[in-house]
Amino acid sequence: MSYIEPHAHMVSRTTDDYERLAIAGCEALCEPAFWAGFDRSSADGFYDYFRQLTEYEPKRAARYGIKHFCWLCINPKEADDPGFAREVMALIPEFIGRENVLGIGEIGLNKNTHSELKIFEEHVQIALDYDLPILIHTPHLEDKLKGTKLILDSLASFSKLDRSKVIIDHVEEHTVAHVLDAGYWAGMTLYPESKCTPNRAIDILEVYGSENIWMNSACDWGVSDPMAVPKCALEMKRRKHTPEMIRKVTYDNPAKFLSQSPRFRL
Ligand SMILES: [Zn+2]
Repeated sequence: MSYIEPHAHMVSRTTDDYERLAIAGCEALCEPAFWAGFDRSSADGFYDYFRQLTEYEPKRAARYGIKHFCWLCINPKEADDPGFAREVMALIPEFIGRENVLGIGEIGLNKNTHSELKIFEEHVQIALDYDLPILIHTPHLEDKLKGTKLILDSLASFSKLDRSKVIIDHVEEHTVAHVLDAGYWAGMTLYPESKCTPNRAIDILEVYGSENIWMNSACDWGVSDPMAVPKCALEMKRRKHTPEMIRKVTYDNPAKFLSQSPRFRL
């Protein structure tokens, strides 16, 4: 099969993972800017990270025939320090025009604090200023529903926002309808432990349909599986979903959403 991995943190994965992704049929992958597992000590750490996302990772992926795209921002966790966050955001204009940059992400909320929300809204404004799509992270576990509602309320205050250019990621059973009903795209993250397992994700597809939804591995430095999307596709086949349906959620849908960025080409 050919598929798109729309959310993977490859800076924390090995080159062997690129090879496995390529063998599984991954044509393109997208890497949102995120928390590195530790707080950076200065904005310079982000300068180098943005160089890694725009210069180094595309070359590493290309060795396996995979197109690499990225999103820029300061992640919600480190965004809780607004002074620091704005230093990092001041770097974005230097990188935003680079050829593999799709838009702003993954922004959002971590602990649903006032500072996180303020920086979230400033990021949304940057995306509007550059007319680029937005990828949004929603908080974990008990903070997820509240955080999702805060994000939806905040987005509703941007009258010029085109909701079809916004994807809200890490949806689960209790948040997916809020996101889709409001006119946004939804992402399901397939994790071995937290977030969705493949079978829960397929249940969600069977209940809520396959419009404006994608699935990703969000593989990073933690417990996660770069092979999660092809494994879920295999499980869909086992559950008698058609090849067209599998292709739709693993290839056509991500291609449709991502093509709203002028830089996305397959
Ligand atoms: Zn992520």
